[in-house]
Amino acid sequence: MKPDHDELTRRLIEFRDERDWRQFHSLKNLVMSAAMESAEIMELTQWKDDEAVERAAQGDTQFRAALAEECADVFLYLLLICERADIDLTEAAVSKLELNARKYPVEKAKGNAKKYTEL
Ligand SMILES: [Mg+2]
Repeated sequence: MKPDHDELTRRLIEFRDERDWRQFHSLKNLVMSAAMESAEIMELTQWKDDEAVERAAQGDTQFRAALAEECADVFLYLLLICERADIDLTEAAVSKLELNARKYPVEKAKGNAKKYTEL
């Protein structure tokens, strides 16, 4: 069974504390690290066109493994940020999805990529 976010966070904190890394994990450093890991996802697609990225995501084992690894890096930093800031990431994501549904009603947003302020 897959661990939920709370269990994953517990394991992550255990991993961190066993290495005495809490001292390096200020909220600012965690935020910067999440952004840097996000850039590593972008790096995987740098200089490739849309079709090449889609093909790689479907059939390139090495690309898929690297993508999964970088996505996991971002996710783990998000969990650390939320633990430090006492934010429930699942609740925040649900709230944000509900907010986005109000900002982008289907009748206005379907089939276009305009920002909600332009709908
Ligand atoms: Mg990484």
